[in-house]
Amino acid sequence: MGEELRTTCPFCSLHCTDLRLTIDGGRLADFSPPCEKGQMGYANAISGLSASRKQSQTRTALQAVRLSLEAASRLLVVLSADLDREAVEGAIRFSKKFSAILTCAEEYTGSMFALAMKTAGFLTGTLGELRNLEQVVLCGVEPGQSHPRLGEMIQKNLLSQAIFLDPPDPLEAIRWLRLGNEERGENIPDFYTDIAAQIQKATSGVVFFGPKWLEAGLPVTTEFLLWLNDLNRTGRWYAQYLSLASNNTGVVETLLFATGFPPNVRFKAKSVGYSPRRWQAERLIQMDWPDLCLLIGRPRHFSEQTFARLEKNRTILLDPLAPSWRPHDWLPVAQAGIDVSGQVQRLDGVPIALQPIMPMERPTANAILADLASEGPRV
Ligand code: SF4
Repeated sequence: MGEELRTTCPFCSLHCTDLRLTIDGGRLADFSPPCEKGQMGYANAISGLSASRKQSQTRTALQAVRLSLEAASRLLVVLSADLDREAVEGAIRFSKKFSAILTCAEEYTGSMFALAMKTAGFLTGTLGELRNLEQVVLCGVEPGQSHPRLGEMIQKNLLSQAIFLDPPDPLEAIRWLRLGNEERGENIPDFYTDIAAQIQKATSGVVFFGPKWLEAGLPVTTEFLLWLNDLNRTGRWYAQYLSLASNNTGVVETLLFATGFPPNVRFKAKSVGYSPRRWQAERLIQMDWPDLCLLIGRPRHFSEQTFARLEKNRTILLDPLAPSWRPHDWLPVAQAGIDVSGQVQRLDGVPIALQPIMPMERPTANAILADLASEGPRV
């Protein structure tokens, strides 16, 4: 039986720090405390290590990629929102060198909104505070799926007070909740008047929301901030964004710090431009804009059509796990928290250091990008 390891989980933005694992004969033999998502993440990552060993990592593979880069005039770099800080910084340096468009595969509006709320004081300081809150409101998210142990904590401590909201029109729902407290004689459905009264009674609470509620864009985010502001007139309310990706906010913050913009930027010789709608990853791929697409980390939400385009065109994937689709080149890279250390951000903004549990020889994404960018100027 292998030795028990204590570690921090890289597989969702809760980044639980109390995991105990046993690896025996190159397989995950024991995992606690229970979390299906974490256990599956580790089992896949550990078996992925042996798949990586079989993949050619010779300089010939890198040389072929280097030649493609030399020939490319429209380079698209797509980041996954699971990447650690070093990989994102490496991708920024690489994109500057090759005058690329740099985008993120995930929806990132929620992260921007979460950062705005943090600035406004609407985000929790630490997860520990949640246990003491009176009311939980879940807006189009199921923490049990995205962040299993958070879902468990809510179930155990707070479920009796939880309100679930999943209306077809979130904007209308927030407006009704706001009006429900103000007795303006509007024709508000009883459901919302009752919920508004329940929320109003609580002196503290947290609103969890996911990407689905933000799809309608600016009007929803504005109304959301106004609602939180209303709630904070009489109590202490927080909001928390729950993304499926494990470092959504960390990726956006690193980009903001280095470029002044979130994803969807285009680097030119001495400037950087920002166009959130025009330079979206899937839109550019579907338009066949890039003559070379470099994916750093696996995209979670791309459509089948987008993958079909990627397979047809020249695509390079840097990822720890073998893909289920067929990019032109797959270069296996180390994964923070499995075979290399790395820094990510927890969902409430706290920086978390991930340590390797099975160090091996796979290069980091940052090392490969630096190697590819090392020969000759190309700005
Ligand atoms: S809740 Fe998230 S961070 Fe915690 S063990 Fe499960 S997958 Fe890992």
